[in-house]
Amino acid sequence: MRIVFLGAPGSGKGTQAQRLMQEYRIPQVSTGDLLRAARKAGSPLGLKAQAAMDSGGLVSDDIVLELLRERLAQADARRGFILDGYPRNVAQAQALDRLLAELQVPVDRVVLFEVPNVELVRRISGRRTCRKCNKVFNVFSSPPPAGERCPNGGEHDLEQRADDTEAVVVKRLKVYDEQTKPLITFYGDRGLLRRIDATGDLDAVTTRLREALAR
Ligand code: AMP
Repeated sequence: MRIVFLGAPGSGKGTQAQRLMQEYRIPQVSTGDLLRAARKAGSPLGLKAQAAMDSGGLVSDDIVLELLRERLAQADARRGFILDGYPRNVAQAQALDRLLAELQVPVDRVVLFEVPNVELVRRISGRRTCRKCNKVFNVFSSPPPAGERCPNGGEHDLEQRADDTEAVVVKRLKVYDEQTKPLITFYGDRGLLRRIDATGDLDAVTTRLREALAR
């Protein structure tokens, strides 16, 4: 199954993708994670992406597409994948169509995660990621359970993303409104879009997500 998760930053796409990938046995493909890994590795693409990411803007379409193309060519993506954070504008959605046409597979479902803006800002400011395993926690709503070990050893080693500061978050939400929201119509017109209420308890959201994917 090939699934696209659509939603503003902080709407819970990454958290739910991590939950669903175990159940559906398909990988989460997050272009944000791919870009952060490219930066950490100091690759030329990563360096080019740096300025746009730090300011909360979008990295150029060709850089992100290159990373995505490489990732989808890996063996574990053959059975399907959950795209988290891609596409983010109409040009990327069209590029995805072309890429999937080459691979001779369609997008099966697009799920829109709906969360009010005030809640998004609260969630993002509490968000922390484990440096070692990339698992996402929230200091307000879902800190690592006491005694939980990181699968990569020791305690989870939490860090806040540099672009999760308030000023950058405001810009990222604006970019979402202006560039990503048109995709609601893009996929809605094709009958692929399912909306879910992504507020409240994590398990409740996962249940709504499962139902939306079955609809
Ligand atoms: P995310 O982890 O999805 O919130 O992405 C973090 C940052 O990476 C974004 O604010 C963008 O600067 C960049 N990014 C991630 N995915 C994309 C994409 N599909 N197109 C352009 N930039 C992206």
